[in-house]
Parts: sequence; structure tokens; C-alpha cells
Amino acid sequence: MKTVTVKGVKGFRDVLPDEAEQRCRIRDAAIGVLERYGYREIELPMLEKVELFSRSVGATSDIVEKEMYAFDDRDGAVVALRPEGTASVVRAYLEAGMSRSTPIARLYYHGPMFRRERPQKGRFRQFTQVGAELLGRDDPESDAEAICMVADMFAAAGIDGIRIEINSLGDAACRPAHRDALVAFARDRIDELCKDCRNRLDRNPLRLLDCKQEACSRAMADAPVMLDFLCEACNAHHARVLELLSNVGVEVVPNPRMVRGLDYYCRTAFEIVAPGLGAQDAVGGGGRYDGLVAELGGPDMAGVGFALGIERMQLAAGQQPAAAGATQILVAPLGDDAAAPALELARRLRLAGCTVELGQSGRKLKAQLKRADKEGVRHVIIIGEEELATGKATVRDLVSRQDHAGCFALADPTEAIVSELERHAAAAGG
Ligand code: AMP
Repeated sequence: MKTVTVKGVKGFRDVLPDEAEQRCRIRDAAIGVLERYGYREIELPMLEKVELFSRSVGATSDIVEKEMYAFDDRDGAVVALRPEGTASVVRAYLEAGMSRSTPIARLYYHGPMFRRERPQKGRFRQFTQVGAELLGRDDPESDAEAICMVADMFAAAGIDGIRIEINSLGDAACRPAHRDALVAFARDRIDELCKDCRNRLDRNPLRLLDCKQEACSRAMADAPVMLDFLCEACNAHHARVLELLSNVGVEVVPNPRMVRGLDYYCRTAFEIVAPGLGAQDAVGGGGRYDGLVAELGGPDMAGVGFALGIERMQLAAGQQPAAAGATQILVAPLGDDAAAPALELARRLRLAGCTVELGQSGRKLKAQLKRADKEGVRHVIIIGEEELATGKATVRDLVSRQDHAGCFALADPTEAIVSELERHAAAAGG
């Protein structure tokens, strides 16, 4: 009977080496910016108590209601794979007593998040976010700075053409009036709304504003928006954020219908859109969440942050030419006797900083060279019978196609060997 191969789980994908390199570049560029803004890394666990997310993201949010990988642990605790990072950052900040020791904290994280959404282009069940949180500051300058940082992160990652959309979601003082107006407006059109929106009406009415169903967007086209209900303090905050961004020349586009899917936002909310990505064109999002720390049992403390999705940043960056194979040198032993000196030489070269692949002593030179060519190797150091007898290696330069017999002695110091290889490469023009 033929054995069936085991496939990966739907929505969970493998990142193969060419792609992994591109992701690394994007992530490192983004992290470089965060560090220059004074953010420090926090590493968070992937498993949290479900309660953390129902109390922060919101029990009625899609994420908590439908998309969490939650399960009963053996000790009876109900846990979930984290669907996002902000709640964990706040939990860790409180648990470590940072609200007392470091009341103003700039923290960043990166790593996988899990949501059981319907997989499609740019949407996976495991995806990767780079996120940042500034805790302990409630001033509009922090919102503006966070948005500047986002703009700089995209620029550093070589992604242009993005649009930063901004809105204000008000606060506990002004939101209820908007909510009431919105619910009343939607009730008058209830027959035109999709089933999800009818369900959301009492539980999470803000989401009616950004339903993607055409009938709903039509019905809600003139629905009241939060901007018209902002209290004086929220209005002043919003105006100042816009003014600061305009001063530094970071362009933002108002989007009064943006609500964000998570309950904890207040005042500034923003989303980064990469036109051209299709249905899943949001590459990042964030905003202010002044009530969250208190909601999770901490002091009354403000916060602002965001998360960018690495997979969608990759899509926005476009296909970049795959990097040439990483190996610069192949050490090719020919025959059993060459195996040990080849292993030793390869190790010495690696310790000196070279990237080295060790060939298989049992394979013919031709086969080893063929593989080296395919891998984009520059130098092949051949150790065969003759080389062992003379103690001197032969080097084949795969660019100039020249052999250099007796190029260096196997007993030479590693630095001398490396400079010999560099000398040949330079002479061959590269
Ligand atoms: P959110 O936490 O929902 O604001 O998402 C922030 C960013 O994470 C989004 O803009 C996406 O780039 C990314 N993201 C969220 N959900 C997914 C997903 N299911 N698959 C891939 N990326 C995602």
C-alpha cells in the first residue's frame, strides 16, 4: 500500500528559504526603526488565558467570538494561542510591576499570531506581526510619533505607495451618543443589513460601519460617524495629531468610517493600506487605548501602539530577486582520506566568517561541482589524492572557470587561506 504524505494544516504555511530571507530583511528594517525610536524588545509567550483577550480585545469582537484557537488545558485553565500582541504586552507590563518601575515604557515585539479566519491571499491562520506599544503617555505627540514611526518603518523596508488612514473613535464620554445614533440609524434599515450586521447591532454596532457586504455599505452610506460626535477634549486631541503630522510632512488620509476590529481603541485609530493587495489590503493598524491597562486590572494609564503584518508587507514589497545561494565556498573532499581534513578546513573557514558547504567525500568531483554551480558557490576547494600528498589545495573559481593548483597549503593559517581566495576572486574581477 502506498504511504500517504502528511500535509500541513490549512492556513498554516511554510516559509521557504528565499522567502525567509525577504521576511528577515523586512522585519530587521522595521525593528531597526523601532530601536532608533527608543523601543526595546519584549518577548511574549504564545499561549495566554482566554480571559485576557475577552477582557481586552472584546468578548463580542470577531477575533474572540469566532477566530481564537482556544482550548481547555489539562489543569482546567482555558487558554488560547495569542491572536494579537497588545493584550499580552499590557499583561506582562502589569505582571512585571513596570507600571511602577517604568511607567513610561516603549516596547516592541515580533512573532506569530493565530486567528482562525478563512484563508485567502494575504490572510492566514498563522501570521507574523511586528508591533510596538508606548505605555504611560496620553498626549497627542505620542500618537503623531507612532504614526511617523510607521511611515519610517515602511520606508526602511523599501515599501512605498502605502496610505495611512486616520480616524478618531472618541472616548467613554462621547462614544455613547454616537453609538445610540448609529443603532437608531441602522434599525431603520434593518431589512437591508446582512445577518452578521443584524447580530452586531446591539452587541458591536461600530462594526456596521466597515462591513464589506455591498448591501450593508449601501444601507450605511450616510450613517452617523464618530467625528461628528467628538467631545471637546477628543476633538482637540485629534486636531493636534493631524497638525503635528502635517508639520513633519507625514501624509495621512481621514477615513471617518474606520473603526478597527478591536474593542480597546479610543481616540486616534489608524490603518495602513497598500492599494493593490486586493481584499486584504490593510498592512497594519493601531491606535490609542487609554482604558486598556485599567481594564486588565492595572492603574489608569494611557497607551498607544500598532502592529504591522509581515506577510502583507512582503506582498506590498513585491517579488524581489531571490538572493544568490548563501554559500561562498564548497570544500570538496574526494575519497575517504580527504573527509577529515576537509571537515577541519571547512570548520576553520567558518570560524573565520566564511559560509562553507562541505561536499560528500564519496561523490565524484563532477557531481560536487554541478551542485556548487547550482547553489551559486564562488570557490571550490578540492582536496583529493594529489592534494593530500602535497599538502596543498586546488581551488576552482566557478566564475572565471580557472583552476589554481597548489593555491595554498592546508597547514597555512586560516587568514592566509581566506586572503588567497579573495586575491583570486579580485584578479578574476569579482
Ligand atoms: P490587526 O491586529 O487586526 O489590527 O492586524 C494588524 C495587521 O496584522 C493587519 O494589518 C495585517 O497586516 C496583519 N494581519 C491580521 N490578520 C491577519 C491574517 N489573518 N493573515 C495575515 N495577516 C494578518
